[in-house]
Amino acid sequence: MTRLPHRMVAACLLLVAATTSLAQPTPPVPEPAAPTVILAGHLIVEPGEPTRGPHTLQVRDGRIEKVVPGLRRDLIPGARIVDLSDAYVLPGLIDAHMHLAIDMQADTTTSTSEARLALSTAAYARRLLRAGVTTVRDVGDNGGTVYAVRDAINQGLIEGPRILAAGRVVSRTGGHGAKRASAIELPFVPASCDGTESCRRVVRENIEAGADWIKITVSGSGREAGGRPEALPNLFDEEAESAIAAARQAARSVAAHAHSTAAINLALRAGARTIEHGTYFDDASVALFKRKQAYLVPTAFVADYVGSRLDMFAGGRDGRSQDDLRQWVEAAKAGPGRAWRAGVPLALGTDGGPSFDVTATAREVALYVASGVPAPAALRAATAGNADALAMGDALGRLRDGAWADIIAVSGDPQADVAHLLRMRMVMKDGRLVCLDDCGDAASPAGEPAK
Ligand SMILES: [Zn+2]
Repeated sequence: MTRLPHRMVAACLLLVAATTSLAQPTPPVPEPAAPTVILAGHLIVEPGEPTRGPHTLQVRDGRIEKVVPGLRRDLIPGARIVDLSDAYVLPGLIDAHMHLAIDMQADTTTSTSEARLALSTAAYARRLLRAGVTTVRDVGDNGGTVYAVRDAINQGLIEGPRILAAGRVVSRTGGHGAKRASAIELPFVPASCDGTESCRRVVRENIEAGADWIKITVSGSGREAGGRPEALPNLFDEEAESAIAAARQAARSVAAHAHSTAAINLALRAGARTIEHGTYFDDASVALFKRKQAYLVPTAFVADYVGSRLDMFAGGRDGRSQDDLRQWVEAAKAGPGRAWRAGVPLALGTDGGPSFDVTATAREVALYVASGVPAPAALRAATAGNADALAMGDALGRLRDGAWADIIAVSGDPQADVAHLLRMRMVMKDGRLVCLDDCGDAASPAGEPAK
């Protein structure tokens, strides 16, 4: 290569600067990751199926090119070798229900400016990825912060999971997700809708703003009277149907927040793809889940958290007693096992976010097991099950030829003991190595809030 004199380089740069300053800014594109060969001592291609012995994964251009038996250092000459010959290699975890920009413990630091909120969301996203969560579906932030973080991650500006964002929560006036902000929160405008026309409109507004998914709320929260087993739905049939039809018209699916039996069944009949929480599903719900090929996202983690702080959560807007709340907590924690025994398609999400430790997703898997779901099926919900629920089963959730290279490794077999998911040995996303033997100890004891 010919070396140019310094002054000429400077002149060229000035010229480039002068011309590009007039051009449209182009988003930065992340540099392609180097070809990588992963030596896996134990391989879980598809959680729920038996763990296999030594295999080698060839990763190039962000995808798994091929998986071959044995440990083959020579697969791509000159490639980076990631030696996990003493570890268990599996698909990256997916969390189908998070709120990356909602801080349950909103205080005067994180929620008083959008800039501050964006920074705390970005920092949390980075730690979440290093905890093995390579994809997140964010089901509501109300301020647009998650779109910005999603896009910055996609452009390679910051590190974090791939994010599917729902943006503003679609709720009826005064419904769950459309309450007036408290004095210390940012006063975001909720996507409230009443009647078919406005329900279509808010869905279209969300899609225009960048929503990958649509989130609607059909009951109150588990902590409110509107979330009791017998509570009436928040929406009329035609409101849910029109929101779902508008989403479908734009090739988006709908996640429906529903605790009460009637709300769950209304959302399923209307065509929701996933039911969030779904605490009080009944036999009719089970039949609807199967007929509609819908998925349940039980969120036992957040119920467990509320159960550990009944004194703090009792009272509230609806004055619910500790006993009353405890009943909901127990029903919600039993949900995954009950659903699994009934044959309901299981996805997995936590309702986690910056208020919680980044091991929430791994702890949700453990709560599935505690409720009676076998470990391989619980791990499947967090990987292949979630990928299928998100209609991304060809690209995510399984370590197949051609899939995106979202890969993690842990020290012991997570299909035998899911506690191994609490500490990552390796995290790779899009074929890019995030961490190896130094993923950090993100866990604080028992999933306590991080601060
Ligand atoms: Zn939620």
